[in-house]
Amino acid sequence: MLEQDAGIGGQLLSVYNPIENYLGLCANNGRELLERFSAGIEGADFDLWTNVEIETVDLKAKRIALHSGEELQSISLVIATGVRRRKLGIPGEDEFAGRGIIESATRDRDLFAGRDVCVIGGGDAAAENALLLAEVCPTVTLVCRGKTLRARPEFKERLHGTHCITVFTEAVVQRILGNERVEAVEILRKNALKSFQMAVGGVLIRVGVEPGTELFREQLQVDELGYIRVNGDQETSVPNVFAIGDVSQPLAPTISGATGAGATAAKVIAARLNRDRKGSHRDTEAQSKK
Ligand SMILES: Cc1cc2nc3c(=O)[nH]c(=O)nc-3n(C[C@H](O)[C@H](O)[C@H](O)COP(=O)(O)OP(=O)(O)OC[C@H]3O[C@@H](n4cnc5c(N)ncnc54)[C@H](O)[C@@H]3O)c2cc1C
Repeated sequence: MLEQDAGIGGQLLSVYNPIENYLGLCANNGRELLERFSAGIEGADFDLWTNVEIETVDLKAKRIALHSGEELQSISLVIATGVRRRKLGIPGEDEFAGRGIIESATRDRDLFAGRDVCVIGGGDAAAENALLLAEVCPTVTLVCRGKTLRARPEFKERLHGTHCITVFTEAVVQRILGNERVEAVEILRKNALKSFQMAVGGVLIRVGVEPGTELFREQLQVDELGYIRVNGDQETSVPNVFAIGDVSQPLAPTISGATGAGATAAKVIAARLNRDRKGSHRDTEAQSKK
């Protein structure tokens, strides 16, 4: 198992809400669920390499070259690279990380209490975070590029009923400004000739996610958004290469979906290995009889 970060967990590390849709387990947050999962695999026979940087992958040959110079050869590959938050790519986004960029309203709400904030995005995540921030912030400005919000109707209704929330549709944030910390955003509204600056003490960005498929995209079938296409066995268009979890589930990304897909792929791989082993055993017996 190759993990680019210092430890396993992926998105679970940024889930600060209670997880209530994993059958039989209720966890207060992602880290708690990760602890339970980790206890479940204690003693299992597998190698975990962390802080790994994959240089190239040859899916057909099942060969992986690491930045460190090592090469790995396998019989099957399982891609579980998930998704990551899409970036806006605007000035200030990286510069103010940890200095006014709000990671999560659930986690950081108290740190931003009493400050005017801006939320960028128009989907469920942006709406939910705006509503949470509105509980402690004097004003919340939601800036959305589209004509209307994509968030579910109940979120939209609550947004419109919360007096401290202002929604700007057909508007983009062009820059995040400040000195030591975030102090303002520069907003451009559609059809306006000039952008304007709005003073804020925090910015939260939720503009969707993108699949981690850049290493593989040219070698297998992906959909128009870059998610890997799989069949019912979780197998990709390349034989013995499987994809599980969010990287192959654009419509219903869930923890139970990811673990279920992992179980399917593992079972298919094990069955094929057994079949091949039996096959080679039969060949050896036939050879010795001859
Ligand atoms: C805020 C939030 C709340 C959520 N709440 C819920 C919930 O309540 N219930 C629920 O079911 N789901 C929830 N989800 C979704 C859930 O977290 C995901 O569906 C699940 O974590 C997907 O797991 P995954 O293994 O497919 O991908 P990820 O969790 O994204 O893990 C991918 C892993 O691959 C690693 N990786 C990526 N690229 C490489 C590479 N090139 N080399 C090596 N390693 C790499 C990453 O570092 C990461 O560790 C939530 C997600 C978020 C962000």
